[in-house]
Amino acid sequence: MLDIPVTAIKGIGTVKAGILKSEAGIETVEDLLYYTPRRYLDRSNVKRIIDVFNEEEVTVSGTVISSRTVRAGKMFFQVDISDGTDILSGIFFGGLNFFEKVFIPGENVIFSGKINVNRRKQIVHPDFDFFDGDSNSMPVNTGRIIPLYRSSMNLKKYGFDSRGFRRVISNALNVYSSNLSEFLDIDILKKYSLPDITRAISGIHFPDSAEHAEQSRKRLAFNEVFSLQYFLLLNKKIIRMKDIKPAAKPDLEFLRKFISALPFKLTDDQMRVIEEIKSDIISASPMNRLLQGDVGAGKTVVALGTALIHISMNRQAALMAPTEILAKQHYENASRYLPAEIKCALLTGSTPAKEKNKIYNELADGSISLVIGTHALIQPSVTFYNLGYIIIDEQHRFGVEQRGIMRTKGISTDLLVMTATPIPRSLSMTLYGDMDVSYIKQKPTDRLVIKTLAFTEDRLPGVYRSIRNYIEQGRQVYYVLPLIDESDKTDLKSATETYNHLKNEIFPDKEIALIHSRLTEKEKYETMNRFKDGVVDILVSTTVIEVGIDVPNASIIVIEHAERFGLSQLHQLRGRVGRGRHQSFCILVHKPELSDDASERIKIMAETDDGFLIAEKDLMLRGSGQLVGTRQHGANDFEFTDIARDYDIIVSARQEAQSIVHKISPEKIKTGIDIIETENRVFAGLRTKRILQILS
Ligand code: ADP
Ligand code: MG
Repeated sequence: MLDIPVTAIKGIGTVKAGILKSEAGIETVEDLLYYTPRRYLDRSNVKRIIDVFNEEEVTVSGTVISSRTVRAGKMFFQVDISDGTDILSGIFFGGLNFFEKVFIPGENVIFSGKINVNRRKQIVHPDFDFFDGDSNSMPVNTGRIIPLYRSSMNLKKYGFDSRGFRRVISNALNVYSSNLSEFLDIDILKKYSLPDITRAISGIHFPDSAEHAEQSRKRLAFNEVFSLQYFLLLNKKIIRMKDIKPAAKPDLEFLRKFISALPFKLTDDQMRVIEEIKSDIISASPMNRLLQGDVGAGKTVVALGTALIHISMNRQAALMAPTEILAKQHYENASRYLPAEIKCALLTGSTPAKEKNKIYNELADGSISLVIGTHALIQPSVTFYNLGYIIIDEQHRFGVEQRGIMRTKGISTDLLVMTATPIPRSLSMTLYGDMDVSYIKQKPTDRLVIKTLAFTEDRLPGVYRSIRNYIEQGRQVYYVLPLIDESDKTDLKSATETYNHLKNEIFPDKEIALIHSRLTEKEKYETMNRFKDGVVDILVSTTVIEVGIDVPNASIIVIEHAERFGLSQLHQLRGRVGRGRHQSFCILVHKPELSDDASERIKIMAETDDGFLIAEKDLMLRGSGQLVGTRQHGANDFEFTDIARDYDIIVSARQEAQSIVHKISPEKIKTGIDIIETENRVFAGLRTKRILQILS
């Protein structure tokens, strides 16, 4: 393995090693070899400035010779670069201070964009990047792809600009690349035409061609997904084998009665999911299931109905929601739909102490069958007589630890986590590979499709008129803005400002309320309740309104600056309406000029109400334009895998991992042989650090 300190590399002493560690997290030779270029410069494609022509999309490179702020009408920043053949200007509007700092004469830059030739050759808002002039002479070498690495002031100070990284990485490759151990069978490599690990690692740094770079990335993406899946699936197998639940003989009459007493007919999807959960509950190993369903799909009844399966066996169930408002809403639903003889309790932070103690006692002695609450449920004072079932709503709002703590309150409990944020298939396969997934795709059939309309800001007076019209028919309105307060930095309207405007000038005769994240939980709760009770006509807010909030009489949602919101976010917001018997509307108000992406988002919103489709599109929009090596590196992100584009890799890597895990004999697991030992060929390919980050 390459788990040796970077000081083993020629050119890296202890001081430099310290900088690499603190600035880039590089400690071992392996870390260094996996320090992926942030992009490549294909020098065979760089044009000489003298050769560019008007309207052409090009990449040029050169040295900054001068820069200045120009005040001619609109202020802009101009950077002149030369490559020895001619001069070209980069023109930037806005952010003048920033550009002044980065474009220092003598720096070597790359500009990409569309050429505009009038008095001079220029590119307006070029994509730009800096590089070190290691080829000494301009114009640059041709016919080679050069890796550019992330760096920082400090790294640069110690010689780690792209050029410095290239030097040490190529040293590391020369000495150590043969120590990279191949852990995938040659058959697998052949089957998917993947390069071996040595060729992949060298190809990610010094590719022979763009294709080689992409093949190398794919190979490393395969490693990444394969290892993660291997972990998840093996873990699942171990849990399945070790954790045997007591035999379950539920009385299904409870569930049948519950379903037939509902004031509506469950959809086929709801029925199917109930069946899936039922067989998990009856099976010998604990359930670990993710329920995905768009907002308003009706997940809560499924949760309540399946809780009855446990309750019929004298086991307890707990339903945890991220906020008091949602917990209370679930509690109200439970009280409405569950048979009266089943004892339910609501436990939140604001439950009075005396009441809390009573609940603690009744949970411990088993007289409460179903407890619904917030984080208050994971407090140490909460103990159960016989907790069999944990349901977590809006699971992304809870951490892994919180789920873990909850699970310790029972033995071999079944776990159902629910989410209204549909996750594209590729993503749920990677992140939730150890879970079984259920989907509710249909909406209850009595729902009318929400009509989504988009208007430019100048149409607001008309929007106000129709809002008034609907309020006068008794409906209520959500009114969403991106910011709480005005800000000098942007010309965005704020919630506070809009609230005042609507209240004082447009709807002085109506009840308007304001809600945002700076209010206390209690204030939010009270305002939300006044809206639920129909006292408030228009609720002005930022995006804080709860995903799951259910106010059927609210049939209009206006979203101003719709161009500022992501696609999934717009869809989530829209899900607040369309929950009652009235026709609902989602009105997207936007600036007249839209970026291509923003207008695409608004178009998709108007075209479809399918949360799963929207999640896929969202991923594509956000994921597109990410060329090899240009990916952002967030802790929860893969290093090499592009979830938007690598669906095939994800599916095949998962399949291969599955087939290996499948072959591990039950004896091995039972006898407790250290799986890590026996399967160390798989772990040889793990970047353990990354995997742990992804899992956390
Ligand atoms: P979510 O999946 O967003 O959590 P909820 O469970 O809050 O959705 O359900 C939204 C509303 O739809 C609730 O008022 C619920 O009672 C109602 N509902 C659930 N299932 C059906 C159905 N099959 N037919 C009609 N209404 C339903
Ligand atoms: Mg919900």
